[in-house]
Amino acid sequence: MIAAKIKIRPGRLLVNGEWRDGAKRFDTVNPATGEVLTQVTEASSADVDQAVCAARSALEDRSGAWRKMSASERGNLIWRLADLIEKNIDELAELETLDNGKPIFESRNIDLPMVIEVFRYFAGMATKIQGETVNTFDNAFTYTLREPVGVVGLIIPWNFPLLLASYKLGPALACGNTVVLKPAEQTPLTSLRLGELALEAGVPAGVLNILTGGPETGKAMVCHLGIDKIAFTGSTAVGKEIMRNAAGGLKRVTLELGGKSPNIVFADAEIDNAVKGAVNGIFYGKGEVCNAGSRLFVESKVRDEFMEKLVARAKKLQPGDPLDPKTRMGAIVSEEQMQTVLRYIEAGRKEGAHLTSGGQRVSVDGGKGFFIEPTIFDGVNNDMKIAREEIFGPVLATLNFDDMDEVADLANRNPYGLAAAVWTRDVKKAHTLSRLLRAGTVWINTYGLLNPALPFGGYKSSGFGRELGMHAIEHYTELKMVWLNLA
Ligand code: NAD
Repeated sequence: MIAAKIKIRPGRLLVNGEWRDGAKRFDTVNPATGEVLTQVTEASSADVDQAVCAARSALEDRSGAWRKMSASERGNLIWRLADLIEKNIDELAELETLDNGKPIFESRNIDLPMVIEVFRYFAGMATKIQGETVNTFDNAFTYTLREPVGVVGLIIPWNFPLLLASYKLGPALACGNTVVLKPAEQTPLTSLRLGELALEAGVPAGVLNILTGGPETGKAMVCHLGIDKIAFTGSTAVGKEIMRNAAGGLKRVTLELGGKSPNIVFADAEIDNAVKGAVNGIFYGKGEVCNAGSRLFVESKVRDEFMEKLVARAKKLQPGDPLDPKTRMGAIVSEEQMQTVLRYIEAGRKEGAHLTSGGQRVSVDGGKGFFIEPTIFDGVNNDMKIAREEIFGPVLATLNFDDMDEVADLANRNPYGLAAAVWTRDVKKAHTLSRLLRAGTVWINTYGLLNPALPFGGYKSSGFGRELGMHAIEHYTELKMVWLNLA
């Protein structure tokens, strides 16, 4: 294994612009070795309360730095944060790889550049938040104001730790909110470094508070009456619990949840491109990707040719040291997640699906890391567990179909609706099927592309609300109507 260049410090909490310890700590582990990287503070409900109070004071203090900052100054501040991330990109990429197990190729060349782009996109948004004047009566002046929602709680999963934090923090700050951010307990390190960079950029005390901890810390945030909105990315099961717990305080909630996205290949597609898209669609990010193309539908006519090429390509993709720039398949985030994925592989075998490649845990460099081979099942039917449930690992379920209506029905017959892809040379077929698919994103002849200017989010059990793009403003502001009597 390549030795890490950076030295990792223990993690503390950021509350009201200051770093502090708490009563309890927990380990964060390098999934590529199974070794503890460092210890991080577990925020208690008292810490949550203090962070919320700090965020509320920063929000409400009319003579405080945050309230006095113009929209343009807020934009500059977010831009400065993006510049600092860029300056420290190598360190942040290595931290992400050590904590999550993803290849340095992905964190350095894809995640981090996108984090920078996302912050710059929202830096520009700060000056584009506007209300409208509305013509009603001659003796009235009626207009709307867009105001911050208030104190926003951001709860982040472990698969794209810094990137998913940027999706939420960018618009939250651009719209003038104050924030309590909780990264996932498996991957807290880049959020903590982000907190340091935010202070260096000049984010005023209390505007961004960072609490590390697990589900209990998250629950304390969701139940705290001083938080006005929760923006959550994570599993559908936890999303439902958050909705229930948020109901007490009637909090605003946006939920980006799980997926089981169909990747649909017609016989008239450019087959080699579709094979590449199928492999990237499921094995990028070790399959720990909410929009992974985990259900591959191949038109029966090209099944044999397609499967041969797919399996050959997948076999070339072997897990390796995440810090090696040549590695394209990293380590599963934790031992627990690895065991979950292995149980799904076993379920696929038991239900009679045909394992065409992979299926095993492997050792990299003789170590104790959590690596699983890229795994492909053929002969899957839509009712099998591996076709119904989100596995969140490098496991592909392949199914066959004969016509468009059949595949639309099969694709939609699943509780999730995050994303889908269609591979065909026939423009009419591509657009007709795009309309039939119940999913928040449809890619045509590509897979997995995202852009800060394009809205991302789910239908059905994949959640609601949209991140990125101009629509994000709607979720981080309240709309106020003002009526002045001119009579
Ligand atoms: P998770 O739901 O277990 O945890 C996510 C976060 O919620 C963590 O920070 C965790 O500490 C916190 N949490 C757990 N229980 C909580 C509770 N009861 N109340 C409040 N907070 C709580 O998810 P995960 O395993 O970290 O991430 C994987 C899941 O995230 C997958 O289902 C994946 O599809 C989903 N995901 C969705 C998107 C999207 O944009 N739709 C993106 C990435 C990941």
